[in-house]
Amino acid sequence: MIRTGEQYREGLRDGREIWIDGERVRDVTTHPAFKPIVDVKSRMYDMAHEPEHASALTYCHGEQLNSIFYRPPREAKDWYDKLEATDRFLQEIGGVATRVGDETIGEMWSLLDGRDMLSEIDPRFADNIDRHVRAVFDNDIFHVSANTDPKGDRSLPPQQQDPDMMVRVVKETDAGIIIRGAKFETAAAYADQAFLKPTVGAWSTQELSDYALGCIVKMGARGVKHICRGGFAGRGDPADYPLANRFDEVEALVVFDDVLIPWEDVFFYRHTKAAQFVRSTLHRYSAFPYVLRLRYVADMMIGTAMWNAKQTGLDKLQAVREKLADLICYREGIHAHLIASITLAQQSPAGLLMPNQSILYAGRVLACSQLPQMMHTARELCGGQLCVTPNAAAFQQPGSAEWLNKFYTLNQRWNADDRRKLMAYARDLLTSDYAGHRLTFVQFAQAPHFSHLAATYQSFDFSGPLDLVRRSAGLSDNILGGA
Ligand SMILES: Cc1cc2nc3c(=O)[nH]c(=O)nc-3n(C[C@H](O)[C@H](O)[C@H](O)COP(=O)(O)OP(=O)(O)OC[C@H]3O[C@@H](n4cnc5c(N)ncnc54)[C@H](O)[C@@H]3O)c2cc1C
Repeated sequence: MIRTGEQYREGLRDGREIWIDGERVRDVTTHPAFKPIVDVKSRMYDMAHEPEHASALTYCHGEQLNSIFYRPPREAKDWYDKLEATDRFLQEIGGVATRVGDETIGEMWSLLDGRDMLSEIDPRFADNIDRHVRAVFDNDIFHVSANTDPKGDRSLPPQQQDPDMMVRVVKETDAGIIIRGAKFETAAAYADQAFLKPTVGAWSTQELSDYALGCIVKMGARGVKHICRGGFAGRGDPADYPLANRFDEVEALVVFDDVLIPWEDVFFYRHTKAAQFVRSTLHRYSAFPYVLRLRYVADMMIGTAMWNAKQTGLDKLQAVREKLADLICYREGIHAHLIASITLAQQSPAGLLMPNQSILYAGRVLACSQLPQMMHTARELCGGQLCVTPNAAAFQQPGSAEWLNKFYTLNQRWNADDRRKLMAYARDLLTSDYAGHRLTFVQFAQAPHFSHLAATYQSFDFSGPLDLVRRSAGLSDNILGGA
């Protein structure tokens, strides 16, 4: 079934405990730091009901209409449908919102792939996986990801410091397990639920551990406290910071203060083997929408740099065209990895269609690791005006307005207003506080760089290159046993 935006908002009014800048948030749907992103997510729900978007955003599952974003992929078309749906949504909202559900649901499909292994460890929980994967599309649930604990001193196992530094089970009851700890989570304050799983660390050398825990946590459950970072939306004039004010995907330290997780929401508990399986397969689907978002970021940088070159007449210069070509290579590199990962997709243990893992993970490394350089190239193309341009108010105020209009009018085609708007947009995309935050989001939100590289190493088939060099270099056949 598909929900409406209003049904989603209603679900958030569940008395959840949210804090921001020392203030208790009474209604997350109307608070200025959250309203813009709640509106964006509501819009995503409402679009699915509108005739012009419905066929791109929904599909029929028996009698039921479901979201394309939550459809478990079984054939290449399912991935192309998701591309189309994402395009509709991002074009509509005029920016890149990453954590709106489609990019986190894949973590649940990974769990489905491990169902048999998890059921061998503890058959009680296998049915919970099936039910929750279904529940997400049956109820159109906005689902986020809870991986990262505060961790404390990384050189020590959690048992040798404040034990709450990593989420753990403190008690079993007839109704379920009681958990304590905290996780850093984007979008938790305005989501329905999170898939919580461990950061695998030094404790995982044991066979059983109270830290090996995978479960669903309702974001409005008793004992869940969202302590959010300061927001960017509502800070400054939207004319000066157009992207930050459009929406901001607020992160929170989500504290679990003795939260009851009913048994039906537990996927695994105590077995470190299960925790390791989940960590090693977590992003096999969800890396796709994450990388796709960066193709849109690349398009925003290309568009900004090209409009600047057109306004200033610099697009006639060969050297400027070469820098634009660097941005194009970045964009097309991401696009090529995405399309190739669908074309060479692989069957998963649960019969789903995984994007080609080696290509997808290589694409994620390209997209994330090159972003800082590409942002700098785009900045360089825009020139210094993007960070020295006065705010919109100065363009209105007699005394400064005449001078700004004189010096920001480029020619008969480009007036001062369009020039100011482009520079404000470029600033918020490339150099503002918000731009820096978004860059950091890309580097960490799904996983840190070393983890991206580990996934790439583990999914690459080394046999081809090894065999090529063995034969080409005339290495002896008896090395094969050790290879
Ligand atoms: C904007 C933003 C949004 C986020 N959203 C979410 C979210 O929605 N859900 C979620 O669960 N988490 C989220 N995170 C947290 C993110 O997953 C973590 O920041 C990330 O996993 C790294 O953990 P850490 O910050 O504790 O870094 P640390 O573990 O302290 O590591 C710091 C650095 O040390 C180095 N390092 C550490 N360990 C190793 C190692 N084993 N090998 C090599 N180098 C290493 C790396 O350079 C690493 O970046 C978000 C983070 C940010 C910044």
